[in-house]
Amino acid sequence: MAQLKSQLILKGILKDYFTGMKSPIAWCTSAGPAEILRALGFDVYFPENHGALLGASRAAEKYIPRAHKEGYDSEICSYLTADIGAWLMKETPLTKIYGLESIPKPDLIVFNTNQCREVAEWFNFFGREYDCPVFGIFPPRHLEEIAKADVDNVVVQLKRLITVGEEIIGKPLDPEKLSETVRLSFEGSQLWKEVLSTATHSPAPLTFFDGCILMAPIVVLRGTQICVDFYRETLAELNDFVAKNEGAVSNEQVRIYWDGMPVWGRLRFLSQLFAENQTSVVASTYCNSWVFDDFDPQKPLESMAFAYTNIFINRGENAKLEMMKNIMETFKVDGAVFHNSKTCFNNANSRFGLPKRVNEATGIDTVSFDGDLVDLRFFSDGQTRTKLETFIEQLKFKK
Ligand code: SF4
Repeated sequence: MAQLKSQLILKGILKDYFTGMKSPIAWCTSAGPAEILRALGFDVYFPENHGALLGASRAAEKYIPRAHKEGYDSEICSYLTADIGAWLMKETPLTKIYGLESIPKPDLIVFNTNQCREVAEWFNFFGREYDCPVFGIFPPRHLEEIAKADVDNVVVQLKRLITVGEEIIGKPLDPEKLSETVRLSFEGSQLWKEVLSTATHSPAPLTFFDGCILMAPIVVLRGTQICVDFYRETLAELNDFVAKNEGAVSNEQVRIYWDGMPVWGRLRFLSQLFAENQTSVVASTYCNSWVFDDFDPQKPLESMAFAYTNIFINRGENAKLEMMKNIMETFKVDGAVFHNSKTCFNNANSRFGLPKRVNEATGIDTVSFDGDLVDLRFFSDGQTRTKLETFIEQLKFKK
């Protein structure tokens, strides 16, 4: 398939986002309460997006050892080590791409441990560096069911965040602005879901690797009209491909579910590997993490508290299994690939027997491979190719 027009439009959107960022600026984790920060009047910057950029541009290899020297272990989150290393070396790919001198200076740093505790260490490092207030949201973790008490717990924390943000901004939060931001987040997220759902069609018009590029606005511009407009256009473009029966991979024979983090520095390699083997990676836990069905502008705080506690990575193993089963069924996959990312055990689901339970529950074959989100010392092109091609051959034979 030719490059999507949306990918070109996205370049302009991201350029405007980065070059237009101005104080007051809040940093936020990717599944954090960005809506509150936007509604308060902050521009919002997402360090994980910067980590992914460091991985995709392969700059991370240069920076990670610098963070190790600072005492950050080689087996902890490589977003964290790449980002801290780049900071210590006073460099960022944003200089080359957008002409920015450095990453945006924060007026408030906010993290949510719904994904991991590593973000607390990471964001507190920058709080010390910038002498900037840091606010952490600590929801109940790894829940099988989410009770009202769990949601209430998070609502209390969100209210505290609002007070802290109001003090920095110097005026109270406008409740209507918050409702409107949550409405835009909901709309953007539902369109993102529809974009991903075009891959239920066979042949799929987009793959997981396209999704890793197209997902940027639902992460960094969630809660804005720009995000909504972008996914509306992207959806129309993908629906055209569906109508023409045109797939992202020519002669699609096998459909795969991807679990875990992307390998940012090897997106192209993996995309080509699957395409050469007539295989579409049609669904993933990762891209689906920014589908928020529960945002409700009438109940902004409660619905955000629920939605951000309900994310896949924050659920118990049984809940995760159910979520995976649903997606695998919806997207009619033949097999599941589990990326065992070495520096993110939080989002590596192959270590405690889940692939076997997925197979028992669905009959779908699974394979795991070792790699990493950013640190390519943990990824082998040759071994990964052999493992994945053998798996695909088995799936083809079985069909
Ligand atoms: S979830 Fe994993 S990759 Fe993301 S910040 Fe936490 S440790 Fe890093």
